[in-house]
Amino acid sequence: MTDPLDGRRAQAFPTLTPAQIARLETHGTKLRTRRGEVLAERGERFSKMLVILSGSIEIVRPGMTGEDLITVHQPGGFTGEMSNLRGLASVVRARVRDEGEVLVIDEENLRAIVQTDAELSELFMRAFILRRVGLIGSQQGDVILIGSHHSADTLRLQQFLTRNAFPHVSLDVESDPDVQTLLDRFQLAVDDIPVVLCRGELVLKNPSNEAIAACLGMNPCIDDATVRDLLVIGAGPAGLAAAVYAASEGLDVLVIETNAPGGQAGSSSKIENYLGFPTGISGEALAGRALVQAQKFGADITIACTAIRLRCERKPYEVELSTGRTVRGRAIVIATGAEYRRLPIENLSKFLGTGVYFAATHVEAQLCRQEEIVVVGGGNSAGQAAIFLSGGCRHVHLLVRSHGLADSMSRYLIRRIEQSANVSLRTRTELVGLEGDSRLERVTWRRGSEAETREIGHVFLMTGAMPNTGWLAGCVQLDDKGFVRTGTDAQIDDRASAPWPLRRVPHLLETSIPGIFAIGDVRCGSVKRVASAVGEGSVSVQLVHRVLEE
Ligand SMILES: Cc1cc2nc3c(=O)[nH]c(=O)nc-3n(C[C@H](O)[C@H](O)[C@H](O)COP(=O)(O)OP(=O)(O)OC[C@H]3O[C@@H](n4cnc5c(N)ncnc54)[C@H](O)[C@@H]3O)c2cc1C
Repeated sequence: MTDPLDGRRAQAFPTLTPAQIARLETHGTKLRTRRGEVLAERGERFSKMLVILSGSIEIVRPGMTGEDLITVHQPGGFTGEMSNLRGLASVVRARVRDEGEVLVIDEENLRAIVQTDAELSELFMRAFILRRVGLIGSQQGDVILIGSHHSADTLRLQQFLTRNAFPHVSLDVESDPDVQTLLDRFQLAVDDIPVVLCRGELVLKNPSNEAIAACLGMNPCIDDATVRDLLVIGAGPAGLAAAVYAASEGLDVLVIETNAPGGQAGSSSKIENYLGFPTGISGEALAGRALVQAQKFGADITIACTAIRLRCERKPYEVELSTGRTVRGRAIVIATGAEYRRLPIENLSKFLGTGVYFAATHVEAQLCRQEEIVVVGGGNSAGQAAIFLSGGCRHVHLLVRSHGLADSMSRYLIRRIEQSANVSLRTRTELVGLEGDSRLERVTWRRGSEAETREIGHVFLMTGAMPNTGWLAGCVQLDDKGFVRTGTDAQIDDRASAPWPLRRVPHLLETSIPGIFAIGDVRCGSVKRVASAVGEGSVSVQLVHRVLEE
């Protein structure tokens, strides 16, 4: 197997200079080590960084067939990767190979270093990110997803692990020869799949995202009793931006995310209009960087956790979570975005993930290589999906209800569609039927009175979104489509909702309740773009400061 860190090992495992070690010494305590001593165990929370002063430490990844050696840290080397910064469970084991001495730097000091020492911050952050990239790319380890590409839950689990950048091995019952041995070993039947082997011991049959997150220690320990300066609900571009700016400006921030950081943008194969990325960036990469940035500044981020109710009658505001817990904040930023609109086709949900998709990333692209596919929608996300997927698919049929794309899609995308030999634009055409047994096999579309059925097994629905505001019921004012009203749009003399209690009018982005803000796609009148979501995240934090000072 090729080394996922090919050419970048020196950056992933740099050696600190004596001057750098001297700077670190004021932040840590020295510890003698003994040969064979395990200093960090995979699956257990270990948020300290160890700088090797003498002796050596080996880093191994326990797998189903023993340990895989990742590296041996010599004097000047240091342990750690992304999970250290978040206080999450370690994904590797650190064991003393040659006894000696280490400098132990705890989470608080590590964070202080990455926030204040520019040189070491760059060195550590780059190393931590590359080490995580190496772990993901190595396809080794004891977290194994056994599934089938015919199963929607397999796709859900794969997306959850991938979008949370969790290193795992993915095996398909239909194509991987090693699967039967594993199924036999754990006494599993093919009907049990998808299955996640968690830490090589615990078998989770078709687990929920919450169950995997709990088993793999993907969340930090959160103290419910603490009243946060700011609760950010939703970790799409808007929520992540709010978290980065708030944490970097010294606020105590907790982010709650139902699935994985990145939101809708995380499912975009390539964002080409976000400032600073002239060759484009995948939503996953953008989200990954933003997450690291938020963690660097000390924001707490909880994934696989849904806000189910906002209690806004008194301060501090309370948010009830799907885990049964309640968190409290002096200010709240609502950044729950929107959800894809489904088509009124009776059996649509039967094929979700088994032929019908709402995202067009590399994960989905792998499923339909060299096949004929359908993309539905006339907006930019549909255009991007069509162009991206046309790179690997035999043919893309782009179905739009209107008579053309000019009113709904950016000009550059329209041009690319026109120039693509394997993309057919089908105007005034609607998808009306889906057929298949265990997965999608045929689709029917209609243009006027003419219906056509084709042997097509992959449909990408890019048809707009509805706001995720069900959890706000009875609190902030919503418009007739369910988007949150803010600023001058929030009708503070509206008799249907509680009267605005302050002499000042609501700030820009502030809802009808003081100190509760809404940003990004969930906000009424917002521009549905990554850049605007990020911008609103940043602006909202300035307004949160003002409210906290009131
Ligand atoms: C396929 C696709 C391609 C796109 N391409 C581009 C592009 O190229 N350029 C561009 O500018 N824009 C693009 N967009 C639009 C852009 O992604 C969105 O405008 C942007 O993501 C909005 O950010 P947001 O943070 O407001 O909301 P979202 O991205 O929707 O994020 C909201 C987050 O909140 C979470 N959430 C929802 N409810 C709850 C709850 N109750 N509790 C906890 N968490 C919750 C969700 O899981 C989600 O992670 C694209 C969109 C899609 C779907």
